[in-house]
Amino acid sequence: MWKQPEMPLSDTAHTSSASAHSGVGILTDIGWLATCRAEGKQSDVHPIEHAAVAFSGGRIDWVGKEEDLPVELRERPTYSAGGRMVTPGLVDCHTHLVFGGWRTDEFRRRLAGESYLDIAASGGGIKRTMKQTREASTEELQRHALGNLQQMVRLGITTVECKSGYGLSFEDELKLLRVVRNIQPETPVHLVSTLLAAHVTPPECNSQSYIQMIVHELIPTVSAEGLAAFNDIFVEEGAFSADDARAVLGAGVEHGLRPKLHVDQLHDVGGGRLAAEVGAISADHLEFTSADGRRAMAAAGVVGVCLPFASLYLNQPPMNARAFLEDGVDVAVATDFNPGSAPSFDLPLALMLACTMSRMTPAEALKGATLIAARALDLERDRGSIEPGKRADFAELSADNVDQWLYHFRPNVCERTWIGGQPLV
Ligand SMILES: [Zn+2]
Repeated sequence: MWKQPEMPLSDTAHTSSASAHSGVGILTDIGWLATCRAEGKQSDVHPIEHAAVAFSGGRIDWVGKEEDLPVELRERPTYSAGGRMVTPGLVDCHTHLVFGGWRTDEFRRRLAGESYLDIAASGGGIKRTMKQTREASTEELQRHALGNLQQMVRLGITTVECKSGYGLSFEDELKLLRVVRNIQPETPVHLVSTLLAAHVTPPECNSQSYIQMIVHELIPTVSAEGLAAFNDIFVEEGAFSADDARAVLGAGVEHGLRPKLHVDQLHDVGGGRLAAEVGAISADHLEFTSADGRRAMAAAGVVGVCLPFASLYLNQPPMNARAFLEDGVDVAVATDFNPGSAPSFDLPLALMLACTMSRMTPAEALKGATLIAARALDLERDRGSIEPGKRADFAELSADNVDQWLYHFRPNVCERTWIGGQPLV
């Protein structure tokens, strides 16, 4: 459980816990506000110094220099950012939040030289997490996911995409998506669900019979129950082919699920071009994508998602985010939080690594975990930047500006997270 909203610093006639609950207020004394508006390049975060933000009903209704704050808004409950930097609430647009058990021993095996694919072939990897996830009760999975979310919100994260993909059967995939639905009322973090039944083929099936089940049984049920917004597939040696992706993602589109892809992580599987062909909203990983694939993504408006933890933990070459940006692809940054290749949900750390490993600038990385990440979840109209009309989701960070935040990297500099105009821890 998260803490109750704090009371504002200065009481006014309107100040009460009721006003805090209705998401009304002003955040003042912001030293450096990254608005992250869409116009311009990804490197343009459109900062405002000495800024203030006003909100009501959980939505932003004024942004600007504090000295320009309209008189009528000064009546509202006021909260001070203490001169800190403020960003839009961070959006983690790629996680595998719901899983049972960890794979600590595989960390040691990989460090000793075994590859991800070798460990998977010997019964480890995704299939091992599948077994642990199937064995876990719904209550255990919910408790585990909520515990992680509670720590994520302290980092300034306000929206989290959650993939299924460790159930790998009709009932178990539904179980994971229902876990996400069940925990939504228990957390202030906004959750977005993605069906990733096509993560790997479970041991009891052959790949074609499994795909037939996904296409003809699972996708229609997920759609009918409104359990997911997106449909994802892992295209890789030992997982699924491009033709499998066309079948699974095409079936999803017919049922209102937008395509996403895990592609080109360990080999170039033509993922960029495939993402453009199937109309994917994002293509994620992209460590081995060709220039041709990048251009296809740019032309089709597919967001590229950079996942530095996976490259770091697997000791693989990172995504060349610089080349994607130069070719006109928007690049989001996410954690890929999962128990195998990316066992960390520290999105700010992923932003720093996106700079050092994938050659993004700090501003590009920040916009990649706010506006561009919201775009990768089709939520750009609602969040991802600090503009009138958008949700009042913010992170208050003890740093001077984005360069200093990601350069002088410290364990957690988020002093306060706001969701829908509610101040949280
Ligand atoms: Zn992933």
